[in-house]
Amino acid sequence: MAWDYYGILGVDRSASDAEIKKSYRKLARQYHPDVNSTDEAAEKFAEIGAAYEVLSDPEKRRVVDMGGDPLGSAGDPGAGAGGFGGFGGVGDIFDAFFGGGGGGGSRRPRSRVQPGSDSLVRVTIDLEEAATGTQKEIQIDTAVLCTTCHGKGSADGSKPTTCNVCNGAGEVQSVQRTMLGNVMTARPCSNCQGTGEVITNPCASCGGQGRVRERRTVTAKVPAGVTTGNRVRLTGQGEVGPGGGPAGDLYVEIREREHPVFVREGDDLHASIRVPVADAALGSEITMESILGEELNVRIDAGTQPSDTVRMRGKGMPNVRGGAHGDLVLHLDVAVPTHLHGKQKEAMRKLREVSKDAPELVDTDSARSGSLFSRLRQAFNQR
Ligand SMILES: [Zn+2]
Ligand SMILES: [Zn+2]
Repeated sequence: MAWDYYGILGVDRSASDAEIKKSYRKLARQYHPDVNSTDEAAEKFAEIGAAYEVLSDPEKRRVVDMGGDPLGSAGDPGAGAGGFGGFGGVGDIFDAFFGGGGGGGSRRPRSRVQPGSDSLVRVTIDLEEAATGTQKEIQIDTAVLCTTCHGKGSADGSKPTTCNVCNGAGEVQSVQRTMLGNVMTARPCSNCQGTGEVITNPCASCGGQGRVRERRTVTAKVPAGVTTGNRVRLTGQGEVGPGGGPAGDLYVEIREREHPVFVREGDDLHASIRVPVADAALGSEITMESILGEELNVRIDAGTQPSDTVRMRGKGMPNVRGGAHGDLVLHLDVAVPTHLHGKQKEAMRKLREVSKDAPELVDTDSARSGSLFSRLRQAFNQR
């Protein structure tokens, strides 16, 4: 019986090369013996490899589409493995995923000791912390070197012995009967997880893995100027690899908490100041604290209009690469009083009497230079 290669990869018969490749990579990751060490997974992994070998080759794919099985060479039973020995294209995937398992010719057995994977944790910091830089203590669940066996995996310090299932080859071959003859397929040995060697007297602490899971506290130095999405790398603080292999890196991803006053835009900060109408008309001054706690004197010019801004150069966030600071942009919001009483009302009435201003319709030309026109234009642009 011919294999359902399309079914194995979960793609339609009309699938494109890219779709086939994508599905293959996804499944290979899922069933890779490093991820899933069951026999079933190993078998599935071998099937996926075979299906991809066939469907990624136009010639072989045509044979399948005509109802045949290109992995079974007719009239020559047992020799069907031609081109499939040593796992063929699967070796490339091994390299791509796991940093290689020995070069040249047969890729197996792969090393028992593998580099560890990188880890990622997220921390939330205040804007003030982002402005000054900070140190964060972070708790992580990770794989660390087994201190009992120092990563060797054996209880008595003895060396691993050759696997007696695969005789050290790291893979086992099996013969499949197909419509067109016998096909030999190779799959990673499940007894030794494809390494070709077994630990006969495994360490009690780590079960021979050379690493154990542990909760650790690490200190991350967060530089000034970081923002949401930035990652701090802690070299060698990731997971220790299988067999006590070298640890990966730990990435700390920054998330910035919203600030009650400042809104960040790149290295610039924005804030709003409510200006009473008399201060806007006559001019005024206000003191405020910068994000770094520095006292700032902000001058509000006489004749300030609603939506005017004051830009304080260099009073924003430090740039994460060092050097210049961003600006602090203050948005002046002129507050027109809503509840006037007694003397205030009187003063306003007087103001109206002495000023000759009255409401009037403005034509575009006279508004062109003023802020009204630009606001109108903005309103139109938003539609
Ligand atoms: Zn151990
Ligand atoms: Zn084996």
